This record gives sequence, structure tokens and C-alpha cells, in this order.
Amino acid sequence: MMVYESDVCIIGGGISAAMLAQKLSELKPGLAITVVEAGVKIFDFDNRQKYRQRSLDYGENAWPEDFIDDQAGAGIISRTMAVGGSALHWGGVTNRFSAEDLTLKSRYGLAVDWPLTWEDLERHYCEAERRLGVSGEPGPLAEDTRSEPYPMPPMPLSYNLAVLKAWAEKSGIPFQGTPQAKNTQPYDGRSVCLRCNTCEICPTGARYSPDFTFKQLLAAKKITLHDQTLIRRLVASPDRKRIVAARGVSRARSGEEVEYRAPTFVVASGYAWSPHLLLLSDVANSSGAVGKYMTGHAFIGGQIELDATLYPGMNEQHSLISRKYFRCAADAPFVRHDLRVWESSAGRDPRLKDAAGRLLLGDALLTDWRDRTKRGAARVRAYYDVHPSADSTLTLDPSKKNRWGDPLPAIRHALDGPTQSRAAATRAHIRGVFDVLAKANNGRVLNVSEGNYLDHPAGGCRMGTDPATSVCDSYGRTHDHANLFVVGSPTLPTGGCTNATLTFVAVTLRSAPAVVKTI
Ligand SMILES: Cc1cc2nc3c(=O)[nH]c(=O)nc-3n(C[C@H](O)[C@H](O)[C@H](O)COP(=O)(O)OP(=O)(O)OC[C@H]3O[C@@H](n4cnc5c(N)ncnc54)[C@H](O)[C@@H]3O)c2cc1C
Ligand code: SF4
Repeated sequence: MMVYESDVCIIGGGISAAMLAQKLSELKPGLAITVVEAGVKIFDFDNRQKYRQRSLDYGENAWPEDFIDDQAGAGIISRTMAVGGSALHWGGVTNRFSAEDLTLKSRYGLAVDWPLTWEDLERHYCEAERRLGVSGEPGPLAEDTRSEPYPMPPMPLSYNLAVLKAWAEKSGIPFQGTPQAKNTQPYDGRSVCLRCNTCEICPTGARYSPDFTFKQLLAAKKITLHDQTLIRRLVASPDRKRIVAARGVSRARSGEEVEYRAPTFVVASGYAWSPHLLLLSDVANSSGAVGKYMTGHAFIGGQIELDATLYPGMNEQHSLISRKYFRCAADAPFVRHDLRVWESSAGRDPRLKDAAGRLLLGDALLTDWRDRTKRGAARVRAYYDVHPSADSTLTLDPSKKNRWGDPLPAIRHALDGPTQSRAAATRAHIRGVFDVLAKANNGRVLNVSEGNYLDHPAGGCRMGTDPATSVCDSYGRTHDHANLFVVGSPTLPTGGCTNATLTFVAVTLRSAPAVVKTI
């Protein structure tokens, strides 16, 4: 068996791992950092144009081989396992949570408070935005005050978005362009966004993805990266106070066993595989909270037709956001959500048959198209705040195993009693907001649909001050093992009501000094 030693061993190679490795290397230059990633590295930037084109032409996965056949599980919404993780694909939308998310119990008597203050998290949001490279504009609401400006000016609104902003604000709800980890000026050696609208794979590098950070760290010899290496177990010392090794298999070397030894281990394996590894290893779980309180946010979307001349196809991935409903008065019925608006071509694409199924030819086709595009359309969506119960679980499924014989994870989200009892009122409120928006321009809601999963999943190793009810402290240090940390998404007690990756990164960056202190 090959044995590797370093000062810190980071398990997982996603966005949280990239940010942690980068900050650790700055806090303590010379630190021997090993990053172990189960998937492959796809560092061939020159091929991105080709992958992009194949994905446009044939609908192929834009990131070839970025998953592992037999590492899957019920309830997992992104199969990506590769250096960079899900953030190879991400849209780069970097909304912040709000102070309400950290104080749900003390403000509203709901769920739990997070064990850190908003001011503390806000500083780390600024750091996360600097490291990723976020472009954005200050919000119009006083509650969204920032302690630092965005690193880059906002993405200009397309003509369509400018028209939609004017429409949406007639309702009295303030909107702004969504902040994004996309360059509006050259940043960190990467290009400017050309608004080509294929952000799942960005051919210019304007959208941040963690492979850039890993490449920089490797070039500067600040980390060692072992890809195609799956960690199967963390090994505790006989007194169980410390983790002494991480054992796994090299997939590149036909399953050869490997062992990592380090004074400090950090699990940065995302919301699914982090609790999965702790359960497999039977560590960090004296509270019984590992794999519990799996969280995320629910969502409702819709299409609105309105009086507006729009030209669909202008950088459709960019959108507007309102943060007005992040707030809820403490004595009002609880409902919190974000509110997004995109341009939409719903019902406006050219078609070969009319509504009655008659073939359209020549002028008839154009007349039909012109008639149907006299009015514009917008896509709207609200991510809303739901709270997990202890029965919201990730468990080991003995009926499904990978090739090494390890049971795979099964995630089953469950919402707590208060969330369930307000569900109807929440839906009615959000539909009401869509109606208000529509009416502002003689519009009508064409359709409304509800999500059937929780987006930006998190939880499973929640942070807290009480070792009896949480897995780790606010820095991700597990209550049971002084040298074992869990960072990012799994540590969130609740999942907020907007895109969550900036928050995963901010809490990860906050862990870095605590990790360094243990080495
Ligand atoms: C299409 C798409 C669009 C998205 N858009 C947005 C967006 O606009 N805004 C936003 O906020 N979020 C977005 N997200 C979500 C975002 O990508 C994720 O929240 C984020 O990437 C999670 O990062 P992570 O580091 O927590 O975990 P991951 O990305 O899952 O990384 C964990 C890594 O650990 C590795 N690993 C796991 N177990 C082991 C093990 N035992 N041994 C070794 N390695 C292991 C995995 O292979 C993986 O690479 C999007 C996601 C997708 C799929
Ligand atoms: S619009 Fe094009 S250039 Fe801009 S971030 Fe997306 S893919 Fe990259």
C-alpha cells in the first residue's frame, strides 16, 4: 500500500477545497497540502471550444468523463465528481444569504440559529467574492449594505433585461442585476465575459471554475493533487480523539490501496459525500447528527406574458433579482424567498404548425410568429426558505454498493412541522407576487410550476455549539475529533432562500485559520 504524508489532507476537490487550499497556502507558506479527489482532472482549457460546440450540436455533457459510473445515489442532483466538482458546470450566480438566515430561531422561533454572526459571515462573503472574482452592483435595500464594494462592476443589462427591470419595478418591488462570478474586466489572469450564453462550459474562462485555482496552486507547487483517488474510510486513533489516516483506492492504478497520514484532515466532499464518508467510517457521530438535517431551498417558477417588445436570445443566463422578500416581519406569517426574472421565449419560438395542428408555410409561418411575439414573456422564480427536520436524512443504502463494496448514499429530504403547516400559505404568497408583477404591465401569468427537489443542497454535518445536536463547531471542526474538519455545504444548519455556493465558500474560508492552528 502506498502511504503519503502531508501537513493537511483535504478530501474532495470541489470549489470549497480549492478555496481552502488556496487560503491555507497563504496563511502558512510552505505547508504541505494534499488534495485527494475521486474524479479525473479536466485541465485541457484549449479543448473547451470543442466541448462547448459538441454540447451545443449534440446535447453532450460539456465536461467529458466528469462522473464516476458506480458513485451515485438516490436524491443526488449533480453527478459531477472531478477536480472542480459541480462548479465546473455552475452558472456562477453568487447571491448572498441575509442576516435572517443566521437568526431564524431568535427572530422567528423557527429551526436553529447559526453559531456565527452576520458581521463575521459578511467579511467572509467579501473575501469569497474577491477570490472568485464577482461582478455586481450594490443592492437598493438598506439591509443589503456591504462592507466592501464588489470586485468588479456589474454585468451590463441586456436590452431585454432593462425592459424587464422597468416592468418589474412598476410593481413597487426593487430589482438589480444578479451578481455573478463572471469577469466584466480582466481578472486573475482570466478573460472578460463575451456574453455568449453557454456558461455551463465557459470558452473564455470569464466564469470562475475551481480548476483555475488548482492549476495556479499546482504551478506554484503549493499543493499536491491526487486525482482519481477515492477515500473510503477515515481511521480514528484507539482513543477515538483523533483521525490518524484516510484510506482509499487509486482508480487510476486499478484499485491499488493508498493511505494518507497528516496532523489534520479536512473533508470537503460536498453535501452528499461528506456525511457519506463519515457514516462509512463511523466517525464524528457521537451526536447521531451525521446525515441528518439535509437541507436546501424549495422553489416555484412561472412564465408571465406582458406588454413589452423583447428580442429573446440576449444573454439569457443573466437575470434580475429582488431581495425584498428575504425579510419578513417577526410578527407576520413567516415567508422568505428571493425573486428572479429572466427573459423568456416561452410560446414565442417559430413553429411549423399552428395551435390547431395546421402546417404553416411561407408568409403564414412569419405572420404566426410575428403575431405571437407582439407581447413579451418573462420567466420568474422564487427560491423559498424551508427548514429540515431530523428525518431529512442521508443514509447508507445496503442494497446499492459501489465496486469496492461500500453502500451508496440515499438522500430523503423531509421538512419540519412549521414548514409543512405554512406550505399552502407560502405557495399562495408567491403566486400572489407573480400576479402583482404580471398586473404591472397588463400581463398575465401563463403557468406556474413547483420544484420537486431542494436546490443547492446542503446539510448532513451541521454546525452548532451543542455537541449533542451538531457535528461540528462554526469552523467545521468536528466535536469528536480535534483534527478533523468538515467544510462548506454540509455544515449549513439551514439552506437559505437563494443560490448558496457563495455561502459554502464563505464559511469554508472562515474555517482556514482554525485549520492552520491545528497543524
Ligand atoms: C448546472 C449547475 C449550475 C449551478 N449553478 C449555480 C449557481 O449559479 N450558483 C450557485 O450558487 N450554485 C450553483 N450550482 C451549485 C454549485 O455548483 C455547488 O453548490 C458547488 O459546486 C458545491 O461545491 P462543493 O465544493 O461543496 O462540492 P462538490 O462540487 O460536490 O465537490 C466535492 C468533490 O469531492 C469529491 N469527493 C467526494 N467524495 C470523495 C471521496 N470520498 N474521496 C475523494 N473525493 C471525493 C467529489 O468527486 C467532488 O469533486 C450549480 C450546480 C450545477 C450542477
Ligand atoms: S456568457 Fe460566455 S463568456 Fe460569459 S461567462 Fe458565460 S460562457 Fe463565459
